[in-house]
Amino acid sequence: MIENELTALIQTKFGKSLQDASDQELYYALLAYTKEKLKETPDITGDKKLYYISAEFLIGKLLSNNLINLGIYDEVAELLQKNGKELSRIEEAEPEPSLGNGGLGRLAACFLDSIATLGLNGDGIGLNYHMGLFRQVFEANKQKEVPNPWIESESWLEDTGIRFQVPFKDFTLTSKLYDIDVAGYENGKNKLHLFDVEGVDESIIGDGISFDKRDIGRNLTLFLYPDDSDWAGNLLRIYQQYFMVSNGAQLILKECEDKGYDLRKLHEHVAIQINDTHPSMVIPELIRLLVQRQVDFNEAIEIVQKTCAYTNHTILAEALEKWPLDYLEQVAPQIVPIIKDLDARMKGRHRDPRVAIIDGQNRVHMANMDIHFGYSVNGVAALHTEILKNSELKPFYDIYPEKFNNKTNGITFRRWLLHCNKELVQWISGYVEEDFKKDANKLEKLMRHIDSDIALEKLLDVKHTKKVQLAEYLKETQGLELNPDSIFDIQVKRLHEYKRQQMNALYVIYKYLEIKAGKKPATPITMIFGAKAAPAYAIAKDIIHLILCLQELIDKDPDVSPYLKVVMVENYNVTMAEHLIPACDISEQISLASKEASGTGNMKFMLNGAVTLGTEDGANVEIHELVGDENIYIFGESSEQVIEHYAKSDYRAADYYIEDEQIRALVNFIISPEMMKIGDPYHLLQIHAELIYKDWFMTLLDLKEYIAVKNRAYEDYADRKAWSRKMLVNIAKAGYFSSDRTIADYNKDIWHLK
Ligand SMILES: *Cc1c(COP(=O)(O)O)cnc(C)c1O
Repeated sequence: MIENELTALIQTKFGKSLQDASDQELYYALLAYTKEKLKETPDITGDKKLYYISAEFLIGKLLSNNLINLGIYDEVAELLQKNGKELSRIEEAEPEPSLGNGGLGRLAACFLDSIATLGLNGDGIGLNYHMGLFRQVFEANKQKEVPNPWIESESWLEDTGIRFQVPFKDFTLTSKLYDIDVAGYENGKNKLHLFDVEGVDESIIGDGISFDKRDIGRNLTLFLYPDDSDWAGNLLRIYQQYFMVSNGAQLILKECEDKGYDLRKLHEHVAIQINDTHPSMVIPELIRLLVQRQVDFNEAIEIVQKTCAYTNHTILAEALEKWPLDYLEQVAPQIVPIIKDLDARMKGRHRDPRVAIIDGQNRVHMANMDIHFGYSVNGVAALHTEILKNSELKPFYDIYPEKFNNKTNGITFRRWLLHCNKELVQWISGYVEEDFKKDANKLEKLMRHIDSDIALEKLLDVKHTKKVQLAEYLKETQGLELNPDSIFDIQVKRLHEYKRQQMNALYVIYKYLEIKAGKKPATPITMIFGAKAAPAYAIAKDIIHLILCLQELIDKDPDVSPYLKVVMVENYNVTMAEHLIPACDISEQISLASKEASGTGNMKFMLNGAVTLGTEDGANVEIHELVGDENIYIFGESSEQVIEHYAKSDYRAADYYIEDEQIRALVNFIISPEMMKIGDPYHLLQIHAELIYKDWFMTLLDLKEYIAVKNRAYEDYADRKAWSRKMLVNIAKAGYFSSDRTIADYNKDIWHLK
């Protein structure tokens, strides 16, 4: 069946047989074939629909995932193999749509998968960025950003023919709606709606990733904002946000009108989940559009309030958006009176300036508007939600305790297990009925085999196989040499001081000096880093420079290189994550406690049998509870202690540097002659000074304990059997972190779809 269809398709498209087609041609044939199968998949329907609005959907490559969810992966893979082709090779021809920065965008993608898998009626709404997040290349041990186009003449995008007018202050833009089908695992399909501008023009991209920021009609959807931490005040970003929400709101109302729903009962038919504050303007925009459709203003506010729910992703103050009112006035003046009205209503009820929408400097606090004018506020891990309720958003919690709820993040097991680790799936299938693929909690049944030597040995074999595969992949794609018999210790995530890659780098220095002094580790160690830094984030780039210089130093030192290897992989993205995570032994989750809202990388690693080395932060807390003290390495000061340090301003990095000889030696090594010879003295001096005089995210606070606990983990690794038990427990307990569970919770508590 598939064989006939696919061979016919290759014949018409390329005039070739399957055997003769190139991997590239086979990719295009499979793309067309899969899109056809998606078309035949029934739409998920329902009387109420969820719209998940997000500035980012970090979907990654889609071919394999779609084949898995359509239930035809094995058949296609077999057919190709029979003809001497490898599906995994063919996949390499697919460009990765990197329409997100990191965790927040990847979460949105996992959610779409789970929403469809649970058969819930829910679509995504976002923007069709022509360049995904920049592609990272290393030159002279520094990050360089280059454009990362992903849209080819044939792609997953389908032009819907739907167009809307979006009014800005001085002009109106016509939008163009593209859809990507989202198939659930053995279920129907939903859509990801990506809006574009009709006049977008890739030719205005200049050197690197620069372009004329004022030419809105041509640049609006060219680039994803390459920053998820410091949402610098910038008009283009407001243009993008307003464009996204106005289109989204128009689409939502159109779909309701097409179905003949009474817009006064919008909330009975629609739930809108606002993913972080980037889509917050959907609130005033929906009010505006409802009033335009003859709904009374007060009633429109009430309707919107019953329709919108907000997810908070961070407590980093600098990442909570505050837009100057006059910026909004310059972009979308029509929503400004609405925002002012909403603000006045709240000021009339609450005198506390901390809950005002517009502050004393005329800035609009987007999160505050979401909380007042939405019906739900959720954090993304238990600890994070508690911090929101008890400190960051306490004034709001005092007013609206009923709005606050926790939804611990999750990941889709289709991509992060079935797709990326088929060997492990096969191992699991030997001990657990097939239905673990639909009900992740069934993984718990693995615990029955915790004393089985055969099961444990086979599990170690799977891990070794994945390490060999990773070594081959990195050799082929980046020319790196890895020893699969070493410990793979991996830290991959966006580069940010709060995630403390710099602390891991200081450990590298520690280990380097130990080995130089003759203390060789029992098992060789490979420390793998992967991270992009926001282009304007100088300290983050300095940290990358430090790591790359250490990599070079160690590579060139024959005393050390047999025992310690440091590699920073280039261009960490979803595809790279899919190769790295299954091969990991130790998962580094070392953020300063209280700062990582949840993390989802930690869940992917656990599911693939890595043991976490981490702080009591984000979802690490829940991982710790699930696996128990024996099966995780925890260190560092608690979130309460850290919050107290900030409250009292009593952390001084210089004290640690002055008082502790070891810390001083490690920090000073950054500017040692051997490092200065390899690196750029300016940047090394910068990071050296930063660690002593500022260190806002308290690297030195936990450094000693980190070194001690990591050393213990490395020692424990040598007892292979004891280690394999830890691996098994981690896999068995990972079911809780399936995004199917997260989405079922969102639906039960917030969306109420059916
Ligand atoms: C999962 C994922 C992230 C998030 O990782 P954290 O460790 O939770 O920050 C970021 N980028 C990519 C490509 C991912 O797959």
